Parts: sequence; structure tokens; C-alpha cells
Amino acid sequence: MTHQRLLGAYAHPDDEQGVSGLMRKYANAGAEVTLVCATRGEAGEIAPGVNATMENLGQVREDELRCAAEKIGIRNVYFLDYRDSGMSGAPENHDPRALWQANLFEVAEKLTRLIRRHQPQVMTTFDPNGGYGHPDHIRIHQAALIAYFVAGDARAYPEQIAREGLQPWTVSKLYWGAFPRQRFEKYAHLAKLAGLDLPVPIQEFLKRATPDEAITTQIDVAEFVDLKLSALHCHASQMNPNSIWGKIPQDIRRAGLAMETLIRAESRVVVPPGVETDLFTGIE
Ligand SMILES: [Zn+2]
Repeated sequence: MTHQRLLGAYAHPDDEQGVSGLMRKYANAGAEVTLVCATRGEAGEIAPGVNATMENLGQVREDELRCAAEKIGIRNVYFLDYRDSGMSGAPENHDPRALWQANLFEVAEKLTRLIRRHQPQVMTTFDPNGGYGHPDHIRIHQAALIAYFVAGDARAYPEQIAREGLQPWTVSKLYWGAFPRQRFEKYAHLAKLAGLDLPVPIQEFLKRATPDEAITTQIDVAEFVDLKLSALHCHASQMNPNSIWGKIPQDIRRAGLAMETLIRAESRVVVPPGVETDLFTGIE
């Protein structure tokens, strides 16, 4: 068996939580796991009681991501050094340093460089709406899609090959995260029963949640639920004490965490029909 290599392309510290279980699972099996995080989440709110300011938030969140990455077994962590664009409509959208303002081909170039360096067979990223419409999630999705198609083409970003000693590399499979409709409808129902207003991201998830029958790939990570929660808690500055996760029954929350769901968006290898349970199916 070839050495398995997996690369996740995301936008903010904590975005990796959607794939933290599968990353740990493949890392345990010897895979090399690489995480690319385009920003440091500088535009988010700071959880109460956390020793951070708007000035040092990027550094705090970088440290939090490194804490999570260690628990998850991520071997390589890269930041692309863009600034968090904030939620859709926020003034930070217009900051010239923001990922939303970046030249998409420049973002794709940076991702392509890391693909050529680490040679993953499998990539994961956000879906085209970035789950709930966050501009940075959408942008990294677009860059990942471009990089998936061009990293193996020597005509793309040829200076990486001429001057940096890199070779073209063709990624075999590209996945994006899927938010299963039934799971999120259940959460919304439970939140309503608990008298909670649904936070905007959950409302947005629900509008675009993936019909369960469209989910191609389910990775069972039940044995890593505690590990996932422990990695999640590294992101202390993002822990909202009024989050709906504290209000819904914990067995239901844990059941949701036990299965990571994705869409196999692109594949250059043949995959048998039916629900796929291994991202590396079809790869020699
Ligand atoms: Zn995010």
C-alpha cells in the first residue's frame, strides 16, 4: 500500500473540527495529514473570560489551532496569512488583507505549492457555500477546486517547478464537507424545544443542508468522539457559553460527532457504487 497522504484546506482555526475524527483515524493508520488554514480567525468574537484582545487574537487562535492539531495528529500545519474576512456583510470583508479581497489565483498558487510539496492523494475542503455562507469558507473552497485541477499541470505556476524544485502532483480525490439535513433539522427541533433562538450559522446550515441521500461518504469516527471534543476545547477563544451544543442532549450531540459526512466532489479513480466509508477507496 502506498503511503496515504491527506490534505485539508480550510479558512479559520476550528474549521478543521468537521474532519478532526477522520484526520485522527488516518493519522493513527500512518497517514501524513496536512492542514492548510488560510487565516487566523482574527475577526471573530472573543469568548468571555479568555485572555485575548483584538490585537493579539490572531496569535491566540494560531496557538489554539496548534493545540488542536497536535491532538488530531496533524503533522503539518500551514497558515496562508490572509486576514479573516468576518461574516458576510461585516466591514472586515473590505480589508485589503482579507481572504475575501485576495486574488483567487494567488490563493490557489499557495495551495498548489503545498499540494506539490506534500503530494496528497486526497483533499478535503468546504462545499461551494462554505457550509453557511462565510466568505472565507467560499473563497478557500474556490481556491481548493482550482488547485485540485491544476496542481498536476506543469503549465500552472511553472515557477514553482523551475525555481522551487517542486514537481506537478495530481490529487486523486476531492471531497467537501456535507451538513446532513436530518441531523441539523433534529438539532433545530431540539433547540426550539429548549426555547433557544437558532444562531445564524445554524439557520444558514439548514437552508443549504445536504439531503441525506446525496451524501456519498460517511466516515465512522465513533471511537474518536472524546478526542474530537478535547481538540474542540483547544479553541477556547471561540467557545460560546450560550452555544446550543450545551443545551441539546449530549447523547444526540455525540451521535452527530460520531459520523463525519462528505461529498465526493471529484475523483480521478474508480469508486464502487454505494456509500463510501473510506476516503482512500480506489487509490492504489
Ligand atoms: Zn470558519
